[in-house]
Amino acid sequence: MLKAVIATKHKKAPLIAPALKPLGYNVVTTSLFDTDTLGMFTNEVQRDCSAQTAALIKAQQACELTGEQCGLGSEGSFGGGPYPGLMNWDEEVICFYDKHTDIAIYGHAGGPFSPSSLTINSETNVESIIAACQRFKEQNWILDDTQTLYKGLSFEGLVALFKEKAPKAGIITPDLRAMYSGQRQAIIRLAAEDLARRLASKCPQCQCANFVAKQLTKGLLCELCSMPTQQVKSTTSLCDSCGYNHIEANEKHVADATYCQFCNP
Ligand SMILES: [Zn+2]
Ligand SMILES: [Zn+2]
Repeated sequence: MLKAVIATKHKKAPLIAPALKPLGYNVVTTSLFDTDTLGMFTNEVQRDCSAQTAALIKAQQACELTGEQCGLGSEGSFGGGPYPGLMNWDEEVICFYDKHTDIAIYGHAGGPFSPSSLTINSETNVESIIAACQRFKEQNWILDDTQTLYKGLSFEGLVALFKEKAPKAGIITPDLRAMYSGQRQAIIRLAAEDLARRLASKCPQCQCANFVAKQLTKGLLCELCSMPTQQVKSTTSLCDSCGYNHIEANEKHVADATYCQFCNP
């Protein structure tokens, strides 16, 4: 089996390994590189590059430090998403880097993230913490009492520490590190599946990976009036290496009139 090495202190290898195993990759962890230097969710270190760049740097560093050919880097971003302000969103990217070819492939996934923070004031009590936090079974927490950051607290640990310190100010936030966040873990698994799909899709001309649909062309014709709609007419798979492309028409040859701005304005 080929090795794909990931630098992480946050137990990400078990989340990614099952997706890559059928492709012959054994995902192993190195702790030689402190990924926190690239940014932390707690704002102790701010990330000053894009998530994709951070994932690439992590994957390249993993190769460099271990001497392995293939490295992985994973990075999450919170906020944004399709409903900003209404729903928090977690976007995960996993980079697969091959040192020999210098090619990087990125798997992506995103999903809603529901645990949210609770500002502490003189009114805050154990009941308010139960109401805000208890239902998120697979989420750990950070208590910031304005003096100290207490991280990685289970719900029970959070309640016990709150009783002990009885802070009158500060904030309780979800601990976003992968091993402390069940919702994040689920999205990292999906990003790993997207990565596996890309690694398995080879260009028919040069055999390079990541030969997947990269462009969508809209304009599928309406079934009733034959005017173009916003529905996808075809997808184009494109090779990053040799430029070969393949256009695939939508299996549906006509669009449902529901999507037609003339028949169903
Ligand atoms: Zn190609
Ligand atoms: Zn129509």
